[in-house]
Amino acid sequence: MDYFFNFDKLDYLTGKKPDGCILCLVRDGSGEVPSLVVHETASSMVSLNLYPYNPGHLLVFPRRHARDVRELTAEERADIDALSRLCLDMLDSTHGPAGYNIGYNMGLVAGASIDHLHLHIIPRYPREIGIAELLAGSRVLVQNPLETRRLLRARFAEAAEAAARAQA
Ligand SMILES: [Zn+2]
Repeated sequence: MDYFFNFDKLDYLTGKKPDGCILCLVRDGSGEVPSLVVHETASSMVSLNLYPYNPGHLLVFPRRHARDVRELTAEERADIDALSRLCLDMLDSTHGPAGYNIGYNMGLVAGASIDHLHLHIIPRYPREIGIAELLAGSRVLVQNPLETRRLLRARFAEAAEAAARAQA
């Protein structure tokens, strides 16, 4: 991560904003949104944030369009919990951040721009700008999101193969 990446120049963001819920479109594989999905299970998905605060910023979300953590089934909660721990392992190995912010924003006033419930996993690095500036929308990225996607997809696939071998 030794160069600055001009996020606004990404061609995938130059189109018009799609109608409808962006995470439902991602889930359905709609051509209207770029797929930044790096891993999925029967009930949940892991995607890079289209508007990342930091390199490796992931979203874990249920496939079902839930709006509130209290709507999640026990199975969805357990799945999202397991996936969030897996994401930390993957990011530790691909990005080696110094820390993480992990959490849900519920409601527009809390900063949730998408009402489809999603868990943010935000890697934190030494010498970066503060979380207040990050959340205010400053977009200083040091890695192309498509490169991040390539790295993380490969790591998740390796982890899945290792888990399958361990079960065999
Ligand atoms: Zn949705």
